[in-house]
Amino acid sequence: MAEIIGVVGAGTMGNGIAQVAARAGYEVVMRDISDEFLRRGVEAIDRSLQRDVDKERLKDEEKRAVIGRVRTTTELGELAEASCVVEAITENLEAKRELFRALDEAVRKDAVLASNTSSISITKLGAATRRPDKVIGMHFMNPVPVMKLVEVIRGIATSDETWARTRELAERLGKTALECNDSPGFVSNRVLMPMINEAVFALHEGVATRESIDGIMRLGMNHPMGPLTLADFIGLDVCLAILNVLHAELGDPKYRPCPLLRKYVDAGWLGRKSGRGFYEY
Ligand code: NAD
Repeated sequence: MAEIIGVVGAGTMGNGIAQVAARAGYEVVMRDISDEFLRRGVEAIDRSLQRDVDKERLKDEEKRAVIGRVRTTTELGELAEASCVVEAITENLEAKRELFRALDEAVRKDAVLASNTSSISITKLGAATRRPDKVIGMHFMNPVPVMKLVEVIRGIATSDETWARTRELAERLGKTALECNDSPGFVSNRVLMPMINEAVFALHEGVATRESIDGIMRLGMNHPMGPLTLADFIGLDVCLAILNVLHAELGDPKYRPCPLLRKYVDAGWLGRKSGRGFYEY
């Protein structure tokens, strides 16, 4: 029987992770809290795979086989036989802690429990279980089927064996795993968010227009997207939340969110998802 990967949360990230795991040949059990969320998750997988069928990168019967390897459930007990469970629920410490406690009870003792969190401490999640050596961060990037990186975060108690197993899983999913230690924002957001924040300050202070700021970074630094466009894509509320974590936990004023970013979030200008951010959509 094929190895089973559990995915908890069928949202943007969870359904992407389920898709790449099923495509790599794993049996996937995807869990969410309602059938409606699960249905939407499977529909998103279907749409994403269909794009590959349309571009003749995937055969229709292969698509059906991939979807056939994704089993959905609202019961945590169905994850019992997974060798690894990747958690991708809402970014909330208490909800994740509660889930890790429950997963520790429900899933076989040798399984790795991974979190796709963008900002929550892996050490804290490990401490909610009796297997902190097997708890690790697997930070996939959005959109999961496209982006090559998995930032793998080691909590204070994560073992070398768990890191090795996680790297192997990431590679079998066609990704590159790069390791870092547990610290606020890990590497990705610790480096990215201050750059975005600085771009917002530059706009706020009238240093340049949004088009100039983005154009300078795109053409001058070879970034595929300017920082303001990228912030709109990520969601300005998400950027603000991550900057708040960096600021609170590292205590350095260099991470203070730009007042203009706060004002946009207050106005409900959250980027692409709300139709307006630094640009209009
Ligand atoms: P989302 O809101 O699209 O999906 C979250 C899903 O989790 C929802 O379907 C919700 O019903 C479900 N859920 C909530 N509590 C649950 C529980 N106890 N059990 C099972 N399912 C539950 O969120 P998302 O954007 O996919 O983000 C998920 C995680 O990935 C977050 O921790 C986020 O920080 C992280 N992340 C997001 C991105 C991104 O760009 N969206 C990138 C990297 C990491």
